[in-house]
Amino acid sequence: MSAFVLPNASFAGKVALVTGGSSGIGLATARAFAEAGATVVLSDIDAEGGETVAQELRDDGGEAAFIRADVSQAADVKHLVAETVARYGRIDYAHNNAGIEGETVLLADYTEDAYDRLMGVNLKGVWLCLKEEIIQMQRQGGGAIVNTASIAGLRGSAWLPVYSASKHGVIGLTRAAALGYARDGIRVNAVCPGYVDTPMVARHDILQSRAAERTPMG
Ligand code: NAD
Repeated sequence: MSAFVLPNASFAGKVALVTGGSSGIGLATARAFAEAGATVVLSDIDAEGGETVAQELRDDGGEAAFIRADVSQAADVKHLVAETVARYGRIDYAHNNAGIEGETVLLADYTEDAYDRLMGVNLKGVWLCLKEEIIQMQRQGGGAIVNTASIAGLRGSAWLPVYSASKHGVIGLTRAAALGYARDGIRVNAVCPGYVDTPMVARHDILQSRAAERTPMG
């Protein structure tokens, strides 16, 4: 395995849940947790990709399992959390990371179906995951959650208007949950990445050219 980014960190005996774990940022998080000794449950709608990642992590000596869930569906999220706890007893860390970019058009050209789909995954999905994870973490006496927001959650993005709104919303949910559950020993934070070279960006010429333009080293 490659060197872990925090060489002194040990997550041995801890259980980590990562959504959107079949690809990109979630895959990197799942691998980092496994390399640090945590038991990782990765989840995604892409079952084939997720099973492959889990197998690769096990082949590399990690503890990993895949459980399929569509984060926009309450029943899937309930099952994901319940099944993780049934198998491993607890959830110490959760990374609510599954997300979609939606349409790359200006706001007036966005369709209602695309709006509902994007908000269902990026905003409702994070809320559903938070809800189930927090209930479990209260039972066990604490835990830590990181939601993947975006730089588009801090400022507007003309070509990703609804995505931008959803990520502002993720920051709002994160702040509310952090305040609401701090006294239960549950930490809730968000990360706001700039452009990251993942399949999400590779799918769109406009995102690739923006990434190059807006990254100082190109
Ligand atoms: P990606 O497309 O490589 O990975 C996203 C994963 O989420 C995929 O495996 C996909 O199957 C899964 N997914 C999609 N819909 C789902 C659903 N309904 N339920 C469960 N899983 C679902 O993208 P990525 O770049 O790794 O993005 C991960 C997160 O990071 C997203 O929330 C994204 O918005 C955010 N982000 C990405 C960038 C970037 O530049 N790549 C920048 C900022 C934030």
